[in-house]
Amino acid sequence: MALIVHKYGGTSMGSIERIRNVAKRVAKWHDAGYQIVVVPSAMSGETNRIIGLAKEISEHPDPRELDVIAATGEQVSVGLLAIALHAIGKQAVSYAGWQVAIKTDGSHTKARINSIDDIKVKRDLEIGKIVIITGFQGVNEHGDITTLGRGGSDTSAVAVAAALNAQECLIFTDVDGVYTTDPRVVSEARRLNTVTFEEMLEMASLGSKVLQIRSVEFAGNYRMPTRVLSSLTDPLIPLKIEANSGTLISFEEDTHMEQANITGIAFSRDEAKITVFGVPDRPGIAYQILGPVADANIEVDMIIQNQSVEGKTDFTFTVSRHDYTKAMQVLANGVQQHIMTTDIIGNAKVSKVSVIGVGMRSHVGIASQMFRTLSEEGINIQMISTSEIKISVLIDEKYMELAVRALHKAFDMESPA
Ligand code: ADP
Ligand code: ASP
Ligand code: MG
Repeated sequence: MALIVHKYGGTSMGSIERIRNVAKRVAKWHDAGYQIVVVPSAMSGETNRIIGLAKEISEHPDPRELDVIAATGEQVSVGLLAIALHAIGKQAVSYAGWQVAIKTDGSHTKARINSIDDIKVKRDLEIGKIVIITGFQGVNEHGDITTLGRGGSDTSAVAVAAALNAQECLIFTDVDGVYTTDPRVVSEARRLNTVTFEEMLEMASLGSKVLQIRSVEFAGNYRMPTRVLSSLTDPLIPLKIEANSGTLISFEEDTHMEQANITGIAFSRDEAKITVFGVPDRPGIAYQILGPVADANIEVDMIIQNQSVEGKTDFTFTVSRHDYTKAMQVLANGVQQHIMTTDIIGNAKVSKVSVIGVGMRSHVGIASQMFRTLSEEGINIQMISTSEIKISVLIDEKYMELAVRALHKAFDMESPA
């Protein structure tokens, strides 16, 4: 019997009425003969609310304890969903991550899944039960509860699907698929029928929060067919229609039907830029600046080093805005004196906009069209980075939405390719 994993996000689980609808939808799939594992998120707003309680007590709560708290939202969800399924006559059982067990490494608040035991789950499925597993949480080698980073239920679902060798992982959410860009920012954004795994990986890593990046990595590494679709339709719509709706992440480039130059536009509002001025231009300098930043567990994204003048150069890099203060402190506490820079200046009001598409490989002129569009809008580009299938620019945060809309129009993304 084929096994399908369903994941339901916070909005999809957002009220008792919605949870009842999830139960009806799950029951429909189960009645059609599928074995079903469901991975729900906490009810919308709940994770923020409970983390907020901890932060009312302490600005920097202990990460182990924060995970104990943050993981509870999902535990409420799985229990409620099991009860909703029982209420409509279905056999269902819920498990917390540690009960399965979903084993992770020890990095609290951003743990990585190492392995998933399938014995208990398979046994339940074989006797006809619907199995409900908490998203977002796992357990480390000491038996402590861990969480997988915000939006981590996507990753739980795809990892569970891979571990159980599911036929497909269905990510039910509050949009009916992956769009050319966030439909909340560009109302003309268009839903994609398919998106290649590589494009989805870039979109997720460059800021599209429709899927957590690690879920896309799991989908790619295990070749797990993964589909993003709406949980807000009538739960009893015919299964055949539902099964083909939304956006499928495809692995074959040649089956990518929408061969536009650009597939999507992603953006990340919360960036920060740091420039170290008057750096001596000598071997090892990048390491001396970025080594301590990396040691502080801060991820660096874009990097530019200018041409040197009279043996001195400027070195600029970006970090997530969330890490900005910490990065400035790290530089002030040592790096500045050590390499004798003239100044260090930061700007925490910058955003990154990226255009993405495998079509870029075979089309020239994408970068110039992007830069022309931004210049026509009077938007100054502060930094640029590229890969084979993406171009990212760093701009003043106040122009971010304007840039996204202008690029969406300039690349004619409203109309089907
Ligand atoms: P869930 O709670 O179901 O996990 P999320 O809020 O994490 O849902 O993700 C869905 C949201 O992602 C959508 O409501 C949408 O605003 C946003 N989003 C950002 N970029 C895109 C995109 N390219 N396509 C679709 N949705 C996107
Ligand atoms: N509840 C968690 C969060 O809000 C995980 C998720 O929703 O995917 O980040
Ligand atoms: Mg999400």
